Amino acid sequence: MPAKQTIPWAMAVLSLALGAGPVVAETPAESSSSMRQRWAGVKQPKQGQPRAIGSYRAGCVQGAATLPLDGTGYQVMRPSRRRYYGHPDLIDFIKTLANEMNRRQLGVLLVGDLGQPRGGPAPSGHASHQSGLDVDLWYTYPEQAARRSLSRDERENTAAGTLVDVTSKKLTAEFTPRIVQILKITASDRRVERVFVNPVIKSAICASESDDRDWLRKLRPWWGHHDHFHVRLACPEDSPTCIPQRPVSSDLGCERLNWWFSDASKDDRKKARGKYRKRIRTAPKMPPQCRAVLQ
Ligand SMILES: [Zn+2]
Repeated sequence: MPAKQTIPWAMAVLSLALGAGPVVAETPAESSSSMRQRWAGVKQPKQGQPRAIGSYRAGCVQGAATLPLDGTGYQVMRPSRRRYYGHPDLIDFIKTLANEMNRRQLGVLLVGDLGQPRGGPAPSGHASHQSGLDVDLWYTYPEQAARRSLSRDERENTAAGTLVDVTSKKLTAEFTPRIVQILKITASDRRVERVFVNPVIKSAICASESDDRDWLRKLRPWWGHHDHFHVRLACPEDSPTCIPQRPVSSDLGCERLNWWFSDASKDDRKKARGKYRKRIRTAPKMPPQCRAVLQ
């Protein structure tokens, strides 16, 4: 489109943003909540070759696979949310991790949100999880989960154990060597690109891990993530329109953790957090290929 024609459109959006005057845009932008409801309303994956499309924060998935609610070493929590769909690589990653935990007697893996049947923005909770490559996993599990399959009611209502007291920024007794082992197995999977954890957790692991530290590069500090860790796979080879993120930096990221704790970066942190929260509420700019996925 020639630049000349983009100006009235841009002005319309601007006036919409400022709440000033009548809006003359030909196709008014869909509101964030109606867009999110539309993606959440689709009950089945889109048939076809598996494809992660677009970015983690503005994308969708074709040919998603379903994670069964129970399998060796894992159980899916909050099944009423119906967010147990993902690119087949993600489903395979979860099963592989749970199997390995089971083999090494590291307890049960409780699985939180993956994505919606066709991905896209969800009505609550996430800026990402849109292209079938993100999953939230619990650090802890109630002891009955090791003996039996949890009931529907337990899956909906059990609270996840927290590793960090978020007010004092101190670790709780739930942080044990088991946690470090699980995160290490996770980060060592070559398909995994990032593992988001609370900065207090990364800091503790930076301080304790001595010989094999390379996997720490994939551990990314982020707000929350004190009661679950978030695993993000890299773009799969079968997905040419998947938009990758910047590769993680080559250093371990332990030295830069100070930003999360120092008084000097307090204002900076506040600003960055505001931006992140806004992202969860706004309508993402979807790639054109996602139109066909939703139909
Ligand atoms: Zn997440």
